[in-house]
Amino acid sequence: MTQTFDPADLPRALDDKTWLLVLTGAGVSAESGLPTFRASDGLWENHHIEDVASPDGFRRDPELVWRFYGERRAGAAKVEPNAGHLALAELERRLGERFLLVTQNVDGLHGRAGSRRYVELHGSLWRTRCSSCDLVPFDDHSHPVEPPLPMCPNCGALLRPDIVWFGEAIPYHGDFAVREHIYLARLAKERLVFLAAGTSGNVWPASSYVSRAADAGAETWLADPGVPANRGAFDRHLRGPATVVLPALVEAFKPSA
Ligand code: NAD
Repeated sequence: MTQTFDPADLPRALDDKTWLLVLTGAGVSAESGLPTFRASDGLWENHHIEDVASPDGFRRDPELVWRFYGERRAGAAKVEPNAGHLALAELERRLGERFLLVTQNVDGLHGRAGSRRYVELHGSLWRTRCSSCDLVPFDDHSHPVEPPLPMCPNCGALLRPDIVWFGEAIPYHGDFAVREHIYLARLAKERLVFLAAGTSGNVWPASSYVSRAADAGAETWLADPGVPANRGAFDRHLRGPATVVLPALVEAFKPSA
């Protein structure tokens, strides 16, 4: 991996009067050992995304979809949060309500690293819901890789992972939390920084947050070892892996006098 990040390139340090809105993607978990899918030509663990992450894919072959997510659960259970996840949890401890993390990841690693003020925009590997009725989604750490497939205790339809698939709406509270955080920073008339880490900017609506934050006057920073297609939307590119760049932000943090 090219590592061109130099801490001397850091923009003005974060301090305890900064409002920070962080968006993370699959790249932040890459160094824990969970592959991103852009890394493998649009395939996610050798599957076409529409086969394993869309309502049509589930209708066509629910066994394949359950096997896929069962394997993802088994894989995610074996790995640990890395220094990037831990750095974000530390920034939350320092900033309190001025901090919000919005993640597209479904692996649960931010929570395991100690983050509390976070929103899982695309759902969670670790919850299951009904494909038909309004059964409340429930925590589920099973790895159902073989039939029989799990059925809803309420209505008898197939259960499914509580993941937001392509073509499905993200939970309303996710988008609301982003708007509210930006609104509160403006109300406080304090500095707002938007930081996107490990996300290619290909998945909507998360890809629109950078322009929403910029329109509200935020500084916009990108932490990524590559050059994603939306690089031009950001003021600064901190080019390096999450395990280097995110701890450097903690290191440079300036408490007020
Ligand atoms: P993506 O795969 O489209 O892009 C990953 C980005 O991370 C790239 O820009 C890449 O350059 C960067 N990256 C690679 N290694 C990195 C590192 N060490 N540190 C920082 N950045 C690094 O990811 P996306 O934008 O999150 O979109 C993928 C979608 O797939 C999301 O919706 C997500 O829900 C799902 N997904 C989740 C996981 C997970 O939960 N761990 C894994 C794969 C895919």
